[in-house]
Amino acid sequence: MIGARLSSSTTELANHAVRLLLAPSCALCRDTLARPLAGPICTGCWSSVRRLTPPLCARCGDSLASWRPADPCCPRCRRRPPAFALARSGGRYEGALREIVHAFKYGGRRALAGPLCSLMRMSGHDVLVGADAVVPVPLHPWRAWTRGFNQADDLACALGAPVWRLLRRARHGPPQASLPAARRRANVRGAFAVGGPLACLSIGPSASTRARGSVLVLVDDVMTTGATLDACARALLDAGAREVRVLTAARAVRARSD
Ligand SMILES: [Zn+2]
Ligand SMILES: [Zn+2]
Repeated sequence: MIGARLSSSTTELANHAVRLLLAPSCALCRDTLARPLAGPICTGCWSSVRRLTPPLCARCGDSLASWRPADPCCPRCRRRPPAFALARSGGRYEGALREIVHAFKYGGRRALAGPLCSLMRMSGHDVLVGADAVVPVPLHPWRAWTRGFNQADDLACALGAPVWRLLRRARHGPPQASLPAARRRANVRGAFAVGGPLACLSIGPSASTRARGSVLVLVDDVMTTGATLDACARALLDAGAREVRVLTAARAVRARSD
């Protein structure tokens, strides 16, 4: 107890010293950070993140206009059920969270993986419970090389569960963000495969052996149409996974009425 109090006052002293010496500002609103050691975003910006609140689609987690116990899924999941059993996200991909994700992904603020994962854990308890491992969505190798990291991999590692890198890009199309929603599904069909191109050289169980019979959680930064995550889930199910779920930091909310 005394130790905890001492360490918290030491942290406060260190925060005070950094604030005095460097006066770092919030990466979003530019206000001086009260607790700079807690990360590059101020508490005001974090608290303005809009969470996804019920009613949500029981399958994909999209926001529903109303809740009907007899029909708990959104129109898209009813029309075409996704390959994943359940998807949840830390918050809406708009406003502060959109800017935070951009600072993380494009601004190289990799320290944001930890607080983003706190949001993901708050919304994703049902997704993570009973799962064998989390699986990051692989990035195009060229983009991973130019960015210096795969944001999905950083998030997966920060979640604290076993990380299985089971997927690879089998085919490369144009970036999903550059395509209209209608073309995204076709663009990623068959784009992911289980196992690395040099799987025969790797030590330990192969990716498909690990996938077989397991409950896996796909991890990515943003879910937009869900086409990429659906294609990844199909590849894992084809390799024998028992169930695939999805957890992302943010999601674009599309269903306004049902
Ligand atoms: Zn701020
Ligand atoms: Zn849905």
